Formats: sequence, structure tokens, C-alpha cells
Amino acid sequence: MTAETFKIAALAGDGIGPEVMREAVKVLRAAERKFGFALDLTEAPVGWAGIDAAGRALPDATLALCRASDAILFGSVGLPDRDPTIPKEERPERAALLRLRKEFGLFANLRPVLLWKELAHACPLAKERQGQGIDILVVRELTGGMYFGQPKRTEDLGHGQRRAIDTMVYTTAEIERIAHVAFRAAGKRAQSGGRPRGKVTSIDKANVLENGVLWREVVTRVGQQYPDVTLEHMFVDNAAMQLMLRPTQFDVLLCENLFGDILSDEAAALAGSLGLLPSASLGASAGGRTFGFYEPAGGTAPDIAGKNLANPIAQILSAALLLLYSCNRPDAHHAIVQAVGKAIAAGHRTGDIFAPNEPGVRRVGTREMGNAIASFV
Ligand code: NAD
Repeated sequence: MTAETFKIAALAGDGIGPEVMREAVKVLRAAERKFGFALDLTEAPVGWAGIDAAGRALPDATLALCRASDAILFGSVGLPDRDPTIPKEERPERAALLRLRKEFGLFANLRPVLLWKELAHACPLAKERQGQGIDILVVRELTGGMYFGQPKRTEDLGHGQRRAIDTMVYTTAEIERIAHVAFRAAGKRAQSGGRPRGKVTSIDKANVLENGVLWREVVTRVGQQYPDVTLEHMFVDNAAMQLMLRPTQFDVLLCENLFGDILSDEAAALAGSLGLLPSASLGASAGGRTFGFYEPAGGTAPDIAGKNLANPIAQILSAALLLLYSCNRPDAHHAIVQAVGKAIAAGHRTGDIFAPNEPGVRRVGTREMGNAIASFV
């Protein structure tokens, strides 16, 4: 029997991108050997690396590769000090990142926040609030709501007065598709070694907003199709408070765009370092496969680039999410998350998660951390 093959575009980008991507590819190869699937992985330039190689932040050949792939594993792009004469629209953040997000219709953003017990000191919450560990997935709708609703304008009212208008709009179909992502993700998390039974906490402001009433109604209806997943509803203001008071109560948080933007950053702060946080942005599923764009939450970190200092865990966990969502391999995803946990338990610490007074730990570089994780897969 031939191995199942997944086609992956690996776009490392700028700054620490190539360093952390190297380690993620190493770990993917270890998973490939262990689990017997085949990764047809092709690297291509993007960002300033694209401008240097082909004159554009998103070269045509890179875009063509992405279109022919099942998923994109992305590093990060942008170097604030490079050539200020290049106009905004041609700079990597817009010309590459925003263009790719739009091109692939990525409507769902998934940000897992996992606090390993060994890194409890990096979490801003007191230890007693961390319970047995924080393990939350924020699912954020990415293409609707207040950021895109019409009308959207600023009007001159005369007498020095102006009025700004933003409009929150959601259709039933938009709520349904993001709700399905959240319920399926809760199921997959249970499958990939997480909770015995998934839970979705749907966030809204149904006591004030029409959007909230529709959101709650549609999510409740979709939830009936997932009897193995528990559904609860929570007002967004209470959710912001509960994340600080009792974050361990959450499994999957389902949010519309604006609430998700805010709550995902609040949740991210609980993990202790940007270098630990992966993300997935998903498009529509077709033929049993979901196209996805996977990237670390942080940027190119120019301050530490090229020095073997960056934490590769965010990129490695992004690769693990790729295996979970675009390749439907919860086994391989679970193995990589476990391997990261083992490297941390063995005392490996990159600078961002290193505490000098912590006993039994060793400061390591990007490469050493990647090697350790690959060896534990
Ligand atoms: P940044 O995330 O690159 O860095 C912020 C801080 O976090 C820095 O101190 C950095 O050293 C640290 N950090 C980030 N990732 C780390 C890692 N893996 N290991 C250890 N430390 C890490 O944000 P910034 O400095 O505001 O932005 C730098 C550049 O990155 C800018 O050009 C920005 O536009 C770009 N950027 C790109 C993306 C993306 O490609 N998705 C996202 C954010 C920022």
C-alpha cells in the first residue's frame, strides 16, 4: 500500500523564520518516519526573501506552489528597518501575508494556548489559578463582523463634530461554518489525547446585540449535530474575567471576529511567551481535506534573528496543527505536542522561557531545542 501523501508549501520568510522553519521541518520528518505518511514538502521564498529572490514579496512561483498544496506552513515576514522607500502595499506584511490570507478564503483562526506545568513561572497568573494546567483553543471568525460590515465611514456633522460608523454583520451561513469548525475542533482535541469529552464555550453579547441573539441561536442549532461535545454560552465581558479567574474551565472558545481578536490575545498572555504559540487559519473543506495556513503567533523577531536564540516551539506546534487539521493525523499531532512537553520536562529552555533560578534546566539554542523535540517524537 502506498503511503498517504500531503503536499506542503513551506514559506520560511524573514528574520527568525528560516531558523525556526528548519526545526519544524526536522520534526515533521521525524513524524513522517514514525507514522508512515509522506510529506511532499517544498520550500519557497516569501517576504523580503521573495523580494530579494524574485522582486516581489509574494513571487508568482510561490503563489503557484501554495495553490497546488494542501497546506502552507508559514514562518513570518517583515523587517521594519529594510528599505523604507518601498510603498506599504508592496511591503511583505501586506503584499504577502494579507494577500495569502485573502487568496485562500481563510475564515477561521485557531489559536491554542497551552501552559506546560514546568513553565508555570512564566504565566502571569498565580499558581493556584493554573490548576492542573491551562489548555484552551480560541476559534475566531476571521472574515465577518465589525471589521468588515457596511456601512463603515466617518461623517462630518459640522461644528467640528464628526461621527464614525462601524457595523456588525453576520449571516446565518457565516455563523454556521465557524461553529462547525469549533465543534469539530473540540472533537479532534478529545481524539488527539486531550480532554475525554470536548466542550465549546460560545462567546456573545446576546443581552445587548442583535448579532449576539442570532449567534447564540445558530450555534445552539449547530451544536445539536455534535452530541459528544458539550456546549455552553457566555457573555464576552464575563469570559474576559473568567479567563483570568478560572482559565482551566475552558476547552474551546468560539468567538466572532472582534471578541476573538481581544480574547485570543488575552488567552495568549497566559502561556508566558510568544515563542510558544502556534496558530492555524483554515479555509473551506473539500474532498475531506481542509486547506490551512499555519504560522507562529509572533513575528520575525529581528532583535534575535540569526543568533540561534529563537524558540522554535511556536513553529513546531504550527506544523503539528497542520498535521491535525489539513492532514487529519491526530496521532502525529499528539506525538509532536507530547514531544514538546518532554523536551520542556527534560529541562531544555530557550532564552525566552529560561529562568536562572529554576533547578535542573539548561539554556539551549534554537537548533538544540529542535533536535530534542525531534528525538522525542
Ligand atoms: P515580534 O513578534 O517579531 O517580536 C516581539 C518580541 O517577541 C521580540 O522581543 C522577539 O524577540 C520576541 N519573540 C518573537 N518570537 C519569538 C520566538 N520564537 N522566540 C523568542 N522570542 C520571540 O514582533 P515585532 O518586533 O513587533 O515585529 C517584527 C517584525 O515582524 C515586523 O516587521 C512585523 O511587521 C513582523 N510581524 C510579522 C508577523 C507575521 O509574519 N505573521 C506577525 C507579527 C509581526
